[in-house]
Amino acid sequence: IIEVSGIHKKFGNSEVLKDVSLEVEESQVVVIMGPSGSGKSTLLRCMTFLEEPDAGDVRIHDCKVQAGSPSGHRHKVIHQLRQNTGFVFQHFNLFPHKTALQNVMEGPLVVKKTSVKEAKDLADELLRKVGLADRANHYPALLSGGQQQRVAIARALAMQPKVMLYDEPTSALDPELVREVLQVMKGLASEGMTMVVVTHEMAFAREVADRVVFMDGGCVVEDGTAKKIFEAPTEERTRQFLNAIA
Ligand code: ATP
Ligand code: MG
Repeated sequence: IIEVSGIHKKFGNSEVLKDVSLEVEESQVVVIMGPSGSGKSTLLRCMTFLEEPDAGDVRIHDCKVQAGSPSGHRHKVIHQLRQNTGFVFQHFNLFPHKTALQNVMEGPLVVKKTSVKEAKDLADELLRKVGLADRANHYPALLSGGQQQRVAIARALAMQPKVMLYDEPTSALDPELVREVLQVMKGLASEGMTMVVVTHEMAFAREVADRVVFMDGGCVVEDGTAKKIFEAPTEERTRQFLNAIA
């Protein structure tokens, strides 16, 4: 359902992605790990054209976009590709002046132009799903970091994406709040949501990921099951990284 091929990205003279390819099947969960600066966030951003790759192409579900010159058609396909894709960031970026419910309703109302009733019914259902039915009318400032991140997940789901991308969704959270967010993500995975997750949570990777991809220096160094990557990595760089974070 996701096909990334031959992505190159430079910032100035620094080559941040060097020919990265990645395929993800429907309902798979792929965890991406790697040292700081290895290009993980840039890869996710290139996959949604928040960052324009210098070369390569990306297919997500039925939308395929190549790196290259802007055009009206290309712009439309990128818009559609983003609608196929839910994106959850390290910092939740909720609208501070909107309640949890309003934050979740926003996308469907503004982008999909659904009716208020339809948006509200869906938002209620999604807040229930992430365990926040009783916080629907709270403003973000009155929610814990873990609750805010769960609202952010509900907000992404409200667009009914085909795939979800997460960039270190728990790394800004206090340790006691990490679990509730991972639990929600695990629930989504078990319902068959296709997910790409940048995280260093090894327990989550072991339990939930079909594959772990290890990146270093802008390249995919190793790609395999969590068991293989954690217990028998073939690359020295993977081994060093795992030793450093374990
Ligand atoms: P981390 O684990 O710290 O989040 P990462 O693997 O996500 O790291 P990226 O954020 O993708 O790494 O960054 C890869 C490299 O690209 C880094 O050297 C970074 O400084 C550089 N970089 C990222 N975004 C930009 C930008 N907009 N302009 C210039 N350089 C950038
Ligand atoms: Mg990053």
